[in-house]
Amino acid sequence: MLIALKLAFLQAKMRKIIVTIDGWSSCGKSTLAKQLAKALGYVYVDSGAMYRAITLYFLRNHIDWTDLSAVKQALKEISLEFIYNSHSQQSEIYLNGENVEYVIRDLVVAEKVSEVAAIKEVRQFAVAQQQKMGKKKGIVMDGRDIGTVVFPNAELKIFMTADNAVRVERRFKELYEKNPNVTIDEVKANLEMRDYIDSHREASPLRQAEDAILLDNTNLTEKEQFQKALQWAHTEINKKS
Ligand code: C5P
Repeated sequence: MLIALKLAFLQAKMRKIIVTIDGWSSCGKSTLAKQLAKALGYVYVDSGAMYRAITLYFLRNHIDWTDLSAVKQALKEISLEFIYNSHSQQSEIYLNGENVEYVIRDLVVAEKVSEVAAIKEVRQFAVAQQQKMGKKKGIVMDGRDIGTVVFPNAELKIFMTADNAVRVERRFKELYEKNPNVTIDEVKANLEMRDYIDSHREASPLRQAEDAILLDNTNLTEKEQFQKALQWAHTEINKKS
């Protein structure tokens, strides 16, 4: 208890930075982001959850997202919030007051989210909220455009990648635990489709920021990648501002 308090006190006195983690789908961005945020005493924000929650709203309310005026109207009806859950020990996303953290991970949402996330107005809606969350720094945010568009001046930018087969395998395991009817081909097709749309869209396409560090975790354990990233973060935090 005393050690935890001391650590929290020391962390509060240190220079706070923004850490951005971008990269391809299912590279383990959120795993690393959560671990880093915890170790640094920072806030973790899963920006993908915001695009997923918006997609869930569109699907549930039969919004035709090819119709821009329908999109604009629908965005006015959406309120997103992250609330910390002490049981799961993570922030969970709420859509208009409802906890949707788990339903947004469904393949039904994953199949449409990249189409919705490619809409400029949807991105403006999400990015404005993301930038607000980073105002006080002390934040780790993962996504696709966090180092390029949301926080172009972030102190530490990481761009994650891994071999396709490894990414498919990891995602399949994760989804299979929740739904044993899911097939590896479905998962592979979904990852390839999302990566294609995310990197070819006009609005804020997925790309590595020039000043981002590339982290290929194909042959790294979770612990190894965490230690590397934590060291990069400490190097930045210890620089004079
Ligand atoms: O990170 P996650 O896989 O949950 O993101 C779901 C989708 O949301 C991505 O495939 C991408 O289409 C979109 N996204 C985005 N920009 C972000 C985060 C996610 O376009 N910053």
